[in-house]
Amino acid sequence: MLTIIIPIYNEESILPELHNRLENTLASVAEEFEIILVDDGSRDRSYELMKDIHRSDSRFKLIRLSRNFGHQIALSAALDAARGDAVILMDGDLQDPPELFSQMIEQWKSGAQVVFMVKKSRKENILKRAAFRLFYKILHSLSSIEIPMHAGNFSLLDRRVVDVLRKMPERHRYLSGLRAWAGFTQVQIGYHRDARFAGKPQMSLRRLIKLALDGIFSFSNVPLRAAIYLGLSAALIAFGGGLYVIYEKVFTDKAILGWASTIVSITFLGGLILMTLGIIGEYVGRIYDEVKQRPLYVIREMVGFDSSAQ
Ligand code: UDP
Ligand code: MG
Repeated sequence: MLTIIIPIYNEESILPELHNRLENTLASVAEEFEIILVDDGSRDRSYELMKDIHRSDSRFKLIRLSRNFGHQIALSAALDAARGDAVILMDGDLQDPPELFSQMIEQWKSGAQVVFMVKKSRKENILKRAAFRLFYKILHSLSSIEIPMHAGNFSLLDRRVVDVLRKMPERHRYLSGLRAWAGFTQVQIGYHRDARFAGKPQMSLRRLIKLALDGIFSFSNVPLRAAIYLGLSAALIAFGGGLYVIYEKVFTDKAILGWASTIVSITFLGGLILMTLGIIGEYVGRIYDEVKQRPLYVIREMVGFDSSAQ
């Protein structure tokens, strides 16, 4: 059996079409399926629509979280409930075409444990595309493991990889990175990412930046080390400046002119110190979140699972 997991947050305008597209594609695939829709605390009619979908086809199972936890957590909740021998992760806004399932399953059957989909193109505005490119470049060059560029959540994971991901307790989850960390045989397929079928993106700029920072700070200690190098170069520059000041004082009579350089170096150092503290703070904050050991998510309701899953 295969499991498809889809996070849903305020997607009432998309759910009927999502249901149609899934029914159509799944009819042409030989495997047996369960589809887990996770309601990530939607405030519109999404959950009612999801219940209708479940009533018309019991292969659709529902998890309702107690509030909005964010889509990485919603996916993690579904991974915990998934029973399939392989799990396909996709977005609920039809940016990831279900028609590609058969290709993904084919790769899985011929031995891949991870099939991840790489975006060859996106239909978003220039600014957003540039920001994504910059993020993947930074992540790629800083991270301690090889995280493929332009690979998002859309992927197929073998049961063994799912079990590895489920054993990762971290709260700041960047699934594409964790997936790369897991290893095994990973195969990529290129695809053209569609525009959103309807509605507005539910990932606000703030959430995207948060996800990008989770990606970078969870997979790299380079920013922490950069603070050391920055501090070191600042100290060197200050030392050079100091020599110059002493020279002025001893060999010329213009020593009083030092005011400008004092101000410059104070502000420069102040800036560096604040920046360094900020970087350390990022990691400390993450350590704090991890030691609290709170559960990743809280489930309000599960529909369609047999009792052992709950
Ligand atoms: N989503 C979610 N919780 C959130 C934000 C988004 O479950 O807090 C879902 C959303 O319903 C969609 C998927 O995650 O199915 C991707 O969201 P979106 O399309 O807004 O993100 P983008 O395509 O801009 O990355
Ligand atoms: Mg989207």
